[in-house]
Amino acid sequence: MKSSNLKCIYPGSFDPVTMGHIDVIMRGYKLFQEIIVAISEVSSKQPFFSIEERKEMMSRAMEEFGLKDVKVVSYKGLTVEIARFYGAKVILRGIRSSRDYEVELQKASLNSKMAPEIETVFMFPAEKYIHLSSSIVREIGISGGDLTGMVPEVVKEYFKKGKS
Ligand code: ADP
Repeated sequence: MKSSNLKCIYPGSFDPVTMGHIDVIMRGYKLFQEIIVAISEVSSKQPFFSIEERKEMMSRAMEEFGLKDVKVVSYKGLTVEIARFYGAKVILRGIRSSRDYEVELQKASLNSKMAPEIETVFMFPAEKYIHLSSSIVREIGISGGDLTGMVPEVVKEYFKKGKS
């Protein structure tokens, strides 16, 4: 049984999805009644994988980890708008370090000004994922390194397909 009847949204670039993201999703999955992973199409960072690829990798990763009822969507506008659209009262974010904390605090307070009815909830991943990021994964994946334990199996396939 779920611990709450709240719906939450987990937004991010997921370029690509890593085991750190999966760890946060699994924690959210236990806690919230429904979890929607919202992949941001537009970002200040130029994405390596297209929005279609990021969405497909995430959907297949959800199957891989038996998280079939997790909805995966993409969005272009503000995170609070997509949260409102899906009736989510919680924005879920992951924190790895004090650097994440500074950035996340700023985002959360801005979002809370725009949508006071929505609460941001932070989760820490397991210690082994603290140093894991999509950018590290991209670096290793592009140079053909072994990503075992860092990403879902499907992500390895995408790098093997010859994204370079
Ligand atoms: P964004 O560009 O919005 O930061 P990311 O895909 O990089 O998107 O991250 C999405 C969310 O997941 C953020 O809250 C980020 O802090 C968190 N996150 C990223 N990597 C990890 C990790 N290894 N462990 C826990 N949370 C993480």
